[in-house]
Amino acid sequence: MIIILLGPPGAGKGTQAKRIEASRGLVQLSTGDMLRAAVANETEVGNKAKEFMDAGKLVSDDVVIGIIEDRIAQQDCEKGFLLDGFPRTVAQAEALDEMLAKKGLKVDAVIEMKVDDEALIDRIAGRYTCAECNAGYHDTNLKPRVAGVCDSCGSTNFIRRADDNRETVVSRLEAYHAQTAPLLPYYREKGVLKTIDGMADIDDVTAQINQVLDAL
Ligand code: ADP
Ligand code: ADP
Ligand code: ZN
Repeated sequence: MIIILLGPPGAGKGTQAKRIEASRGLVQLSTGDMLRAAVANETEVGNKAKEFMDAGKLVSDDVVIGIIEDRIAQQDCEKGFLLDGFPRTVAQAEALDEMLAKKGLKVDAVIEMKVDDEALIDRIAGRYTCAECNAGYHDTNLKPRVAGVCDSCGSTNFIRRADDNRETVVSRLEAYHAQTAPLLPYYREKGVLKTIDGMADIDDVTAQINQVLDAL
């Protein structure tokens, strides 16, 4: 199964992708996580991507398309995968369709997570992750069970993303509305778009996604 989680920054894509990865055995492919790893490792791709990410702008299509093409060729993707943060432009969506067609595959469902812009800003401003295992948390919406200790791995180290600040969020939301929202009609025309209420609480959103996946 090939599933895309589509939604603005802070919509809950990563949170839900990790849950579905665990419950359904689909590999989560997050271009944001891959790019952050490349930046941290100071690879050629990372060095190119950094200034765009810091400014809240999209990294160029050929860079992210190349990353995804290499990633989906790996063996763990054979049973299906869940794309989180890719595609983000129509050119990326077309490139994805082409690479899948070559393997006789196609996108099974695109799940649009609808969330108001104001809620997104609060979600992003309060977001942090475990530095060891990347589990996601929020200052008010999703705290670890024991304050300061990661539920998943017990680590006490947490990090906040450099681009999760109120200034950069505005450009990221603009990029979403201008460059990514055109994917909605693109996938609607293909009959694969499913829209869910991303304003609901985290468990409710998971239930809505499971309902979509069960119906496929
Ligand atoms: P995305 O991957 O779409 O950018 P995340 O999954 O990282 O978004 O979620 C952004 C922040 O909002 C995180 O801190 C997460 O804990 C929190 N969050 C995710 N889903 C919800 C929800 N349904 N309600 C409230 N907060 C949420
Ligand atoms: P969020 O869901 O909070 O916007 P991501 O982790 O998906 O964050 O992305 C972080 C940054 O990485 C983006 O602002 C952008 O600069 C870059 N990025 C991630 N995925 C893509 C993509 N598919 N195309 C272009 N840039 C991307
Ligand atoms: Zn952890």
